[in-house]
Amino acid sequence: MIKTRIAPSPTGNLHIGTTRTALFNYLYAKNQQGKFVIRIEDTDIARSTKESEQDIIEGLEWLGLIPDEGVSLRGELGDLGPYRQSQRADTYRPYLEQLLATGDAYWCNLTDSELEELKTKAEQEQRQFVLRSPYREQKQEPTPQSVIRFKVPDTKVIFEDKIKGKIEFDTSLLGDFVIAKNLDYPLYNFVVVVDDELMEITHIIRGDDHIANTPKQILINKALGFKNKQFAHLPLILAPDKSKMSKRFGATSIKEYREQGYLPEAMINFLALLGWNEGNDREYYTLGEIIAKFSLKRVQKSGAIFNIQKLDSINSHYIKQLSQEKQLEFGREYLVKNGFDINQWTANQLNQIIKLEIQRIKKFSDIGRELDFLWQQPEYNPEILAYKAMNNPQIIASLEWSQKLLYNIKDNDLENIEQLIKTAIQEDSQQMGEILWPLRVALSGKEKSPSPFEIIAILGKDESIRRLQSAISLISLDK
Ligand code: GLU
Repeated sequence: MIKTRIAPSPTGNLHIGTTRTALFNYLYAKNQQGKFVIRIEDTDIARSTKESEQDIIEGLEWLGLIPDEGVSLRGELGDLGPYRQSQRADTYRPYLEQLLATGDAYWCNLTDSELEELKTKAEQEQRQFVLRSPYREQKQEPTPQSVIRFKVPDTKVIFEDKIKGKIEFDTSLLGDFVIAKNLDYPLYNFVVVVDDELMEITHIIRGDDHIANTPKQILINKALGFKNKQFAHLPLILAPDKSKMSKRFGATSIKEYREQGYLPEAMINFLALLGWNEGNDREYYTLGEIIAKFSLKRVQKSGAIFNIQKLDSINSHYIKQLSQEKQLEFGREYLVKNGFDINQWTANQLNQIIKLEIQRIKKFSDIGRELDFLWQQPEYNPEILAYKAMNNPQIIASLEWSQKLLYNIKDNDLENIEQLIKTAIQEDSQQMGEILWPLRVALSGKEKSPSPFEIIAILGKDESIRRLQSAISLISLDK
C-alpha cells in the first residue's frame, strides 16, 4: 500500500510551501487508495512550540487534509506512533547502536580546531574539502565531545526521482556527516530514515530544497537494511519575479489567508495548480476531482510561480458557490470585523447588502470597502452627477423627476423598482441615461457602483429621497 507523509517542524505557523507539499502527498496517497500520515518533527526543542504544532494541524485539517495516521485534532491516529519525534527518543537508540556495531557509523573525537586544520590543509592543496575523519577506522570510547558520524562509502547514489527523473550523486563529494550528537540525540537525517521505515512510508514527496539530504538518507537507509523508498522532489514556490516566495508578494502562512477570508476550497484548488496541471487549462477543481486526476507525472519540474490574482479569482468563484446561509454568515462576520455596524439595517436589508457584496469581493475581508457608500453617504464632487453634457438645471430636473417618482411608490414596490422606473421613463418620454446616471450617482456618490435599482432596494424609499435631495442642494450650492 502507498503511504506518504508530511513531516513539518513546528517552528512557526503553517507555511504555504509546507501546505502545498502536504497537499501533493495527500493527493498522491488518496489517488491510489493509500494513506497519508502527519508526523511532527519536533527534535529541535529550542525552536519547536506547541502553538506552532496546533496551528499546523488546524490549518491542514481546515483545508481537508485529514491524516489517516499521525497527529490530528482528535489526538494521535494509527498504531505506529508516537508520531512526534520528541516522544520517540528510545526508538532511535538501537538503530544508532546498530550502525556503530556494523561500522557504518563511528564515534568521532575530532575537535573544532582539528576540523579547521583539515579544512585549511585542503585549501592549501587546492582541493575541495570532504571530511574523512581520522577516527573513521577506529572503534573507540566516546568522550563528552564526541559525535556520531556516518561513514560515507565510496559509491554512486542513483535514484529515480518521480518528478525530476534519474539523479546521480557521487559520494566522493560527501563528507562523513554527523548523524547524532550522542546516543540520545540523533539528528534530522537519521531520525527521518528510521521514522519513514517504522511508519511504513513508501513515497517521500517534499520540496526540492531537501534534495541534498536525499543521498544521505538513502545511504543510511541502506546501511540499516531498510526497504527502498521512492522519492519525488517538488519545485519550489517562487514569487512573480522568480525570487524566493516571501511576504512581499502575499501572505506566507495559511492562518493569514484564513483570516483574510479565503475559503479552503479555493486554497486547495489554487495550491494544486501551483506546480500541477491536468494537461489543459481547466481552472476549478474540488479536492475530490483533483484526487481523481492527480499524478506526479504531471508535476512540473521547474519553480511554480505564485500569483495572488489567480488565487483571488479562484476564491471569488468559490465565494459565489457557497450556500446562501454561509455567505450571509461569513458576510456578517467580516462586516463586523471591518468595523461596520450591522445593526443599522433590518435583516432583509443586510442580506441584500451581502448578496451585492458577494458578486464583487475577492475575499471576505474585502467586504464593505467598495460598497461603503451604502452605510454612509460619502462626500463627492457634484460634477460627476452629469450624464454626458447635461447642465445643472437639467441634472436638477432629472433628480426631481426621480424624487417625485419615489415619493409615489409604495414600500412593497421596491422589489419591482427596476421595472417601475424604466416604465415611467418610457411613459414620460425621458432619456434612460439622463435619469439613471444622475440617480445612481446621487445615491452612491460614485462614478462606478451597482445599479440605482439595487441601491434603492437596499436603502429604501426615505433614505433614497434624502440622498436625491442632498444632491440637488449640492448642485444648487455649486452654482
Ligand atoms: N521536517 C522537515 C521540514 O520541515 C521535513 C523533512 C522531510 O520531509 O523529510 O522541512
